[in-house]
Amino acid sequence: MSCIFCQIGAGTIPSKVLFKDDKVIAFRDINPQAPVHIVIIPRKHFTNLNDIKGDDFGLIAYIISIATELARSEGIAESGYRIAVNSGKEGGQVVGHLHFHLLGGRQLTGELG
Ligand code: AMP
Ligand code: ZN
Repeated sequence: MSCIFCQIGAGTIPSKVLFKDDKVIAFRDINPQAPVHIVIIPRKHFTNLNDIKGDDFGLIAYIISIATELARSEGIAESGYRIAVNSGKEGGQVVGHLHFHLLGGRQLTGELG
């Protein structure tokens, strides 16, 4: 298994896990871009959003719900946060396992800010 996020999901690479169940795992980003920077992944390997079809969109909604719960538990729900998905090379995706970034705890800027 060469995918780093599959290995985090399997627990063979350690991470600072904040939430996990049978579908999803959320952990702190190793190179945080904000005071709160959490990566949320489906345990199942999808390369990026192009792999999501049909019923799998329900998993995307579930991941968003987990992200909003984590925003609350991290104390950034009211101050504000960003949920971002980089999909494909020009989208800025580096790790080829679909993942969602939850960012907050400072004023976010950048291309959408
Ligand atoms: P992306 O550019 O959207 O592919 O983002 C990949 C993210 O994964 C980056 O923010 C990395 O810092 C993060 N990352 C890479 N390896 C690890 C790891 N072992 N544990 C936690 N986060 C990681
Ligand atoms: Zn994977």
